[in-house]
Amino acid sequence: MARILIIEDEIDMAMGLKDNFEFEGHEVTIANDGETGLKLARDGSLHLIILDIMLPQKSGFDVCKELRNEGISTPIIMVSARGQEIDKVLGLEIGADDYITKPFGVRELLARVNAVLRRMPYKENQALLVETIGKLTVDFQQLLAASDDGSSIDLSHKEFELLQYLLLHKGEIISRDALLDEVWGYEHFPTSRTVDNFIVKLRKKIEIDPSKPRHIITVHGTGYKLV
Ligand code: CA
Repeated sequence: MARILIIEDEIDMAMGLKDNFEFEGHEVTIANDGETGLKLARDGSLHLIILDIMLPQKSGFDVCKELRNEGISTPIIMVSARGQEIDKVLGLEIGADDYITKPFGVRELLARVNAVLRRMPYKENQALLVETIGKLTVDFQQLLAASDDGSSIDLSHKEFELLQYLLLHKGEIISRDALLDEVWGYEHFPTSRTVDNFIVKLRKKIEIDPSKPRHIITVHGTGYKLV
């Protein structure tokens, strides 16, 4: 799982990429102009930036140049409109890691993303590696899960994300609203019932006795707590 920033002013394109990356298990933030993108890109915990060239306020070239001048080495894949071949050379010269020309297939972009991520190992302190909760052991890098008897367990991407959020906030009381905002985000419209249903499913995979949970605790009237 990687944290990816998409800097792209075409909303449909940005949302489409976000959906695809999230389906691959990545965490995605979008900026719709160069200035906002540059601010968000200074976050040291990002693993990858998808950077359009033609952007309002500040071009992708300027964003890339400024980041590299500031010593920020987060991998950057630049995106440009068809036929801007001159830009390609310039893009790589100013410190982009790869380059893709619109229109491109999602598969091609995902392949390039994976190649860039493989070259750049995740910062250890930002990502969960292997965690055991109750009878469930989860490898967050490989997105694999197994039960204590060694059998593999299917976790959906949303379950991985939910579990990751709970682990990163272990011991804290987390409201259903916070889970909806942080795990589901604003683009979907689930209800707090959705959260409860996912918790029930996770408990079956984690708890020895799901009817008496010892790991994902219900905090009545508030939300949940992982202990
Ligand atoms: Ca653009």
